[in-house]
Amino acid sequence: MTDTNHPSRPDLPTLPIIENFSRRAAIKGGFATLGAAAFVAAISPLRHAAQNTSAGEFMQNHYTELTPEQKADVIARLEEEAKEKYGAEVTIGDDRPIPGTKFVYAINLSVCNGNGKCVEACHKENNHDRATNQSYIRVIEMPKGTMDMEQGSTTYTGAVPKDDKFYLPVQCQQCDEPPCVDVCPVKATWKEDDGIVVVDYNWCIGCRYCEAACPYHARRFNWKQPEVPAEEVNPDQSYLSNRIRPVGVVEKCTYCLHRTRRGKLPACLEACPTGARVFGNILDPESNIRWLLENKRVYILKEELGTKPAFFYYFD
Ligand code: SF4
Ligand code: SF4
Repeated sequence: MTDTNHPSRPDLPTLPIIENFSRRAAIKGGFATLGAAAFVAAISPLRHAAQNTSAGEFMQNHYTELTPEQKADVIARLEEEAKEKYGAEVTIGDDRPIPGTKFVYAINLSVCNGNGKCVEACHKENNHDRATNQSYIRVIEMPKGTMDMEQGSTTYTGAVPKDDKFYLPVQCQQCDEPPCVDVCPVKATWKEDDGIVVVDYNWCIGCRYCEAACPYHARRFNWKQPEVPAEEVNPDQSYLSNRIRPVGVVEKCTYCLHRTRRGKLPACLEACPTGARVFGNILDPESNIRWLLENKRVYILKEELGTKPAFFYYFD
């Protein structure tokens, strides 16, 4: 279960190749592969999303194909839409990976006490739907003696920590071999050069294959248009992270790329009152995260699946 080789391992990912690829081509291909009834059923949430899709959005190219001028136009349109739909003045950045960076996260499970402040911070930072109290983090109350997350409970109540339990926060593991990316029929999700797995919400067709493929239950589907009061909208947004997602698409933790690619820490780390969370650039030999991975016995979840998470757990 240990992964002490990780510091020398990072395989820097490459962006997927998008060659003359369109959603229309994907839908055509989907029919051929699945048959009409199965494909329509698979993308059924899209029928609800269709009425909310503007002409500009429908005509938009995949994010990786947009020129800087096209990106500027898209972002201006999205900022305007945020004003119309939410009454909020927002700034949407186009934050790209910093060369020489591979982000890695770790949590000290001897220290985490299940207080859930990280869950709350993620909810606010990422403009999650208020009605469903959505968050990218689930804290699992675990019986001591196992790292099998399926044996824990996410609906625990009462005072924490309990003597016979420990607490396992789980969010996207930013896998180096992400099964969620492999199954996407339209290449709307991919792994970037700093290790963060992202989704182009304007390209996602809502088939939810990626959600089913993720062994960590890390992806969320927007069944309806997220509701966030104007005064609660986090205005510091990015195209590939916390801009408010449309209905009918999948979303996930992006290691707060709108913060971390600007030199800040993830919101969940800043909110954690116990200091259980460690985040940084594993390619930096002076970083705390590098020291930790070289000197602690660390665990990854579901190692047997070969997903190679960039997310580690350890005990003191
Ligand atoms: S944890 Fe799930 S969503 Fe995140 S990269 Fe791995 S498979 Fe994909
Ligand atoms: S890093 Fe940011 S996006 Fe990821 S779980 Fe923490 S708060 Fe959420």
